Amino acid sequence: MRAKRVVGNWKMHGSLGRNAELLGECARRLGGQDRPVGVEVAVCVPFPYLAQTQAALAGTALAWGAQDVSAHAQGAYTGEVAAPMLAEFGARYVIVGHSERRAWHGETSALVAAKAAAALAAGLTPIVCVGESLEERESGMTETVVGGQLSVCIETLGLDLLARCVVAYEPVWAIGTGRNATPEQAQAVHAFLRRRLGKAGDVVSVLYGGSVKPSNAAALFAMPDVDGGLIGGAALSIEDFEPVCRACA
Ligand code: PEP
Repeated sequence: MRAKRVVGNWKMHGSLGRNAELLGECARRLGGQDRPVGVEVAVCVPFPYLAQTQAALAGTALAWGAQDVSAHAQGAYTGEVAAPMLAEFGARYVIVGHSERRAWHGETSALVAAKAAAALAAGLTPIVCVGESLEERESGMTETVVGGQLSVCIETLGLDLLARCVVAYEPVWAIGTGRNATPEQAQAVHAFLRRRLGKAGDVVSVLYGGSVKPSNAAALFAMPDVDGGLIGGAALSIEDFEPVCRACA
């Protein structure tokens, strides 16, 4: 049984004041009695706001997490944040391998797999992101690229540990561009990824990310292999995030 999930990725946005408002609205409209039934909703916030998020969302139906994690459990790694630290703040999820980290921080698929392993060891659920660039899509390389990115995780973690992960297909050309994959394009890649997951594919949620908004969420989430979404820009406004979450129910 695959869980339906909608996870907000706040990226490097927020302030204590703004978060208090947004988290309060999320708790009220998505985390209480009127929450979307059958969907796990979460927000992945910048590290400094984890304590604030924990305080605001504890006791609601909402989960929270971070956007990156160290591959190491502790030690002399200045500036890094370890998975057990995230767990201390009640985090359930951590995004690993977001295309922005792969592109601008030189993260390889091997490092992403090591981060996923560190997250799992601390009891967190890694959200492993894969996705192709526009150039790769246009040259027919989509399956080679996303399959290659996922294969490193499969080899590193094995299918049993992989079954405890979430996978997010995020075409790079659709992230923050306003240009989403069509439901059919998303479905084709999700079905491919699920085949790659083997028996873990029966339980792993495969989320779609890339310019999901209220106007396109229902059509994307209606695809048989799309188990929900990883949401960037639309997660920063409750007026957008709430209908996106409800579209998954
Ligand atoms: C993301 O950054 O994970 C993302 C999907 O962004 P957006 O929804 O803004 O395209």
